[in-house]
Amino acid sequence: MHEYDDAAASLAARMAELSIDRLQMQAPLDRTLSPAELEELAGQTVTPGGIGGEAAAQLWEDVLAPACLSIDHPRYLAFIPGAPSKAAAAFDMLIGASSIYGGSWLEASGAVYAENQALRWIADLAGLPESAGGVFVQGGTNGNLSALVAARAAALHARGGTRPARWAVMLTHETHSSVKHALESVMDVDVVEIPGDDRGRLTGSAIRSWLEIATDEQRHSVFAVVATAGTTNLGVIDDLAGIGEVAREQGWWFHVDGAYGGAGLAAPSVRALFDGIEQADSFIVDPHKWLFSPFDACALLYRDPVLARAAHTQKASYLDVLTDDPTRSVWNPSDYAIHLTRRPRGLPLWFSLAVNGTDAYRDAIETTLAVTRAARELIDAADHVNLLVDPDLSVLIFERVGWSDADYNAWSDRLLKDEIAFVTPTKHRGRVCTRFAIVNPRTTVADLQLVLDSMRD
Ligand SMILES: *Cc1c(COP(=O)(O)O)cnc(C)c1O
Repeated sequence: MHEYDDAAASLAARMAELSIDRLQMQAPLDRTLSPAELEELAGQTVTPGGIGGEAAAQLWEDVLAPACLSIDHPRYLAFIPGAPSKAAAAFDMLIGASSIYGGSWLEASGAVYAENQALRWIADLAGLPESAGGVFVQGGTNGNLSALVAARAAALHARGGTRPARWAVMLTHETHSSVKHALESVMDVDVVEIPGDDRGRLTGSAIRSWLEIATDEQRHSVFAVVATAGTTNLGVIDDLAGIGEVAREQGWWFHVDGAYGGAGLAAPSVRALFDGIEQADSFIVDPHKWLFSPFDACALLYRDPVLARAAHTQKASYLDVLTDDPTRSVWNPSDYAIHLTRRPRGLPLWFSLAVNGTDAYRDAIETTLAVTRAARELIDAADHVNLLVDPDLSVLIFERVGWSDADYNAWSDRLLKDEIAFVTPTKHRGRVCTRFAIVNPRTTVADLQLVLDSMRD
């Protein structure tokens, strides 16, 4: 099992060949099978004797892989798709073969150095100070949770260890579910939901209105406010400048969730909408969404990493060698989030940035924004669909005139079954509708036209 014998060599060659094929081809959308279908086609694959390399590889190629959707298909428009660059995807193969422990400087100085350069690029886009730093975690969910845990620890420290009866964090209806989940289910923290404006944006003025009517106890319970730079459902950016200002006045931690939209920082045509982000105490963006990296990676940045380290460093006698000696612990990624062992998951982004340059990122993100604007014009011009929210970034939410829930579902199922497109229903103000999320530079206006046309009959 651990020798590089003939069987291992042929398996490795097969995997390399399959990987390169996948990088080369325009992958089919593929489809979802039921447990019963998979049971019939694949059967029991884990057995005491093993089924052998040839059979396992064939099973993957013929049955299992085609039962996994290709998120980088140009007409995968549901949720938030992904579109890894070739360099990022290829480098991910190498990382998989390399057995690198990405948690500490001692064990992975080269990888951490490279990841930190990628983080620095993002910090500079956001205008965060030189002192800013962080870590790549698994996804936005872990990034938001880790930031909020650091925020609460910093608040407790700032209040001299005195806790309010309840802690609370301010957000709005369009704030991502992962933030509410982190607060309510994981941290047992209350949520103060501030009404959004007509596009669902959290604004500084809405928070000020709340402050006018809040009791002292309510005010005192708040330790952070979460703003979203690119809401997932609507693609809209909150009033970052106004929120940042209130947060600073009140001494609250200002967290910006840019899991999807943060990539827009690299696009000059929308950069002004992010003004105020430079005030953030913490900020996340998912490279696996709109920064062309494979799953899974979230860049988590802190204005003052010392506060994050105080909240997150795990202490254990067997770890003292990592945490106590400054010459060994130059930067331990495990210190900045809720994790210890980690894959160096920022490396595909780093490699692709190093290979292609940051201008290529700017251009690719601008391409997706230009396609979004053109598709918006198609929607505006068509009679059968109505745009529901004016977008800031690359999400278009719209309704098909006269359709019921069942119509949306039947249409969505049919497009997936025919492997034409993956577009799912969503809701806006309680009404069913649908949306395009466009992060793939290979998605064309013609792709979107095709999907819009499929809604005519
Ligand atoms: C996708 C998303 C998240 C969650 O990120 P995961 O990587 O899926 O865990 C959080 N916030 C926003 C705004 C998102 O779009």
